[in-house]
Amino acid sequence: MIICIGEILIDFVASQPGRLEDAPAFIKAAGGAVANVAVWLAALDQPVAFLGAVGNDAFGRYLRSALQERGVEAGGLQLPANSHTTLAFVSLTAAGERDFSFLSGADAQFELNPLATEYIMRGDWLHFGGVSLSREPARAANWQAVALARQRGIPISFDANLRPSLWASLDEARLQLARAVREADIVKLSEVELEFLTGETNVLSALPILQRQLLGAATRLVSVTLGDVGSTYLLLASGEYGSVPAPVVQAVDTTGAGDAFMAALISQLRAAGLGALAAGSLESILQQANAAGARAVLDKGAWPPHNK
Ligand code: ADP
Repeated sequence: MIICIGEILIDFVASQPGRLEDAPAFIKAAGGAVANVAVWLAALDQPVAFLGAVGNDAFGRYLRSALQERGVEAGGLQLPANSHTTLAFVSLTAAGERDFSFLSGADAQFELNPLATEYIMRGDWLHFGGVSLSREPARAANWQAVALARQRGIPISFDANLRPSLWASLDEARLQLARAVREADIVKLSEVELEFLTGETNVLSALPILQRQLLGAATRLVSVTLGDVGSTYLLLASGEYGSVPAPVVQAVDTTGAGDAFMAALISQLRAAGLGALAAGSLESILQQANAAGARAVLDKGAWPPHNK
């Protein structure tokens, strides 16, 4: 079973494009990058459990049943006292950029309690993300989970998901994300996150810098997603890197593309074993992951349509 540990929240999505301050109304949707990955994994028929925290309120109850409805095991959801479900207000500007306002809540209160530990002991893969590293006690809980997974020898994947407004400082973000990139076997970064970690804007120039930064690290694969261009990969064992184009599609909503990509990458590597990374079969795996990302932009919302 794949254990996804991280944030789940309500996205209130502006009903029309524009600046967040001009939004006339918002539509409720389930979100949170790590929860999205869990749902995409379930849609790929993978056994998956989500570990995180919601408020003991209507939104928390909605998120729990939304996960269950999609086939994600949600028994490990925590209901910390005195916290509300995390809310994110988001609008898509005319330029296609996402404009966010977060109301942080229960997601940061996640703790590695005995039940969460039990899930990780039963898991055969651990996936986590950068949002949970931004605040305590979730940060400490994530590091404990990573240590436990490492002890058990199960693969660990990480999606940096840098959201600058969530962090006390960018230096702290850089420190935490850099540590996570070193401790995960499989890492997903965006172009912006690659630049944030290496200080280099050009992807192909940044990869050798990252390779040097990761000397002696656990990292085996870094995958950099590039929107409609596709993705670039770096294999740490050999230093090989290359690019895989995305199929050309008519994008409707790019929310969740990276999460669908991540889920497709995890499910294939889980089936093939991390040994497949050395075997030259990576490019076809990434083609499939790109295709999953491209499919996700065909529909509105971060989750797969119900009938898929
Ligand atoms: P994120 O959501 O994490 O920012 P991306 O937007 O880069 O990630 O999307 C992840 C992957 O989904 C890309 O690497 C690409 O393969 C695919 N993808 C995303 N947007 C498009 C698009 N407009 N057309 C085709 N493929 C896309």
